[in-house]
Amino acid sequence: MAEPSRTEFALGTVCTVTLFDKGKDQIYNDIFNRLREIENLMSVNIPSSDISRINAAAGIEPVQAHEETIKVIKRSVFYAEVSDGAFDPTVGPVVSLWGIVNENQRIPDQTEIDEILPLVNWRNIDINLEANTVFLKYQGMALDLGAIAKGYAADEAVAIIRNTKVKQAIIDLGGNVILYGEKKDKSLWRVGIQNPLETRGIITGVVQVKEKTVVTSGVYERFFEQDGKRYHHIFSPWKGYPSDSGLLSVTIIADNSMEADALSTAVFVLGYERSKTLLDLFPDTEAIFIFEDMSIQTTSALNLTITDKAYFLK
Ligand code: FAD
Ligand code: MG
Repeated sequence: MAEPSRTEFALGTVCTVTLFDKGKDQIYNDIFNRLREIENLMSVNIPSSDISRINAAAGIEPVQAHEETIKVIKRSVFYAEVSDGAFDPTVGPVVSLWGIVNENQRIPDQTEIDEILPLVNWRNIDINLEANTVFLKYQGMALDLGAIAKGYAADEAVAIIRNTKVKQAIIDLGGNVILYGEKKDKSLWRVGIQNPLETRGIITGVVQVKEKTVVTSGVYERFFEQDGKRYHHIFSPWKGYPSDSGLLSVTIIADNSMEADALSTAVFVLGYERSKTLLDLFPDTEAIFIFEDMSIQTTSALNLTITDKAYFLK
């Protein structure tokens, strides 16, 4: 029998929460309220959010922000540092220029890209933990937590569930998935891995995991096509172009969803070879790489079954 669940639009995406057995309305309400709370703090599309206010004051003055926002920005800086800037929360000007989120999608001129690239540099974020302020050093800089805040929100949803009698749950925030608890029959959770060349929900394979988070970054989530070429939403902070590291998607399987979210984006930008050093820093983390030639590679003996015959394990 299908478990009861609730689906709502939040964080710019479709969010589904499935609470097994003890899932009362109140718990669903608490979770979705929490997601909206985080969205109201961290969205670039809400003018009153901490992030929008910090961006509006770039190069002008430090802005006071909620402790939570500062915590996520601080973690973003950490992931930027360990990934040599492949993950960069100051990628905002690039995202805006390509119009990926505001629907004005277009290929910008190289001169436009050259103009904004100096603004993309996580080292120019000043965080003052005593005053609870964030300052972007140069006018035109802009934070974008789109590659990490959904993971944070998923972890926060689980924090709510931990305080209830619910023993098993699935949190799915637009593909950012957490499997909470051990299944009653002790079997592993089965999670579909998105087919990166199809629309959301069509899978290439199934991975079986214990209580884990499974987060994917890929070319399918947001993109536009021009002259037969796909331009997607995960950018190389160095080139200001959609990253072309030979991957269609990267799935990270880990314990913490914020970490998995940041790493999935970082690894996607770094590519298979260059991401090894980064992944070595996170020994409990597994990865599934899907390459442009439809081959699939995993970091270790992951329990992955390929269901779409167009794809093959390397
Ligand atoms: P990820 O790989 O996890 O993230 C990719 C996103 O991160 C890109 O879309 C870009 O925003 C950013 N990014 C790109 N390259 C890099 C890089 N190298 N380093 C760091 N970050 C990078 N979408 C809407 O359409 N409308 C909304 O109102 C809206 N509100 C949102 C509010 C919040 C708080 C969050 C977290 C997301 C929101 N979104 C909204 C969705 C957002 O725009 C992205 O589509 C989504 O977060 C991408 O997640 P992903 O898991 O697919 O990809
Ligand atoms: Mg991410």
